[in-house]
Amino acid sequence: MFNDQRSKKIIFVAHCILNQNSISDGTADFPATVKPILDFLIKENVGIIQLPCPELNCLGLDRGNPKGSQSDVIIENTRIKGALKNEIVQKKLQLLIGQIVYQIEEYLKHNFNIIGLIGINRSPSCGVETTSKNNQEAKGKGFFTSLLLNELDKKNINLKMLGIKTSNLDEALEKVSQLF
Ligand code: SF4
Repeated sequence: MFNDQRSKKIIFVAHCILNQNSISDGTADFPATVKPILDFLIKENVGIIQLPCPELNCLGLDRGNPKGSQSDVIIENTRIKGALKNEIVQKKLQLLIGQIVYQIEEYLKHNFNIIGLIGINRSPSCGVETTSKNNQEAKGKGFFTSLLLNELDKKNINLKMLGIKTSNLDEALEKVSQLF
């Protein structure tokens, strides 16, 4: 099956790489897409799956803080991480994660090559190598990334993950290129 023109290569990317409008107030680095990353992925003929933005879906565009951009980013990030631990929010996150895991399983079932997942470092949700904790950037995964990893572990699915910062594009492109 699927022996048509498709590359059978897939990559999962944090929502805000394709849509900076989703990001928390005061932290967008680009007007719309993080174009250099997307240009690279398009050149590689990889299908790009935009992950849901967990914070937008669960906390709203203002993350429940209309004065968001007036707060120090790292302090606001720590507040957001705390807000994600709310029981109702966790149920919503699990629904989102279920949809992602389903897609991953479908592609694997049909022998597609899942190149990996690109998250956003320092994010309280989508951090891969770093997140925000105790009002500082700290090693560790964001809340959403951790939940996703737990679900994948239960199913013995190993997915390569890396985190980038859109404020440091040279490093981001270097890291992404190492996935290929
Ligand atoms: S890092 Fe994650 S939570 Fe933050 S804007 Fe991007 S997709 Fe949304």
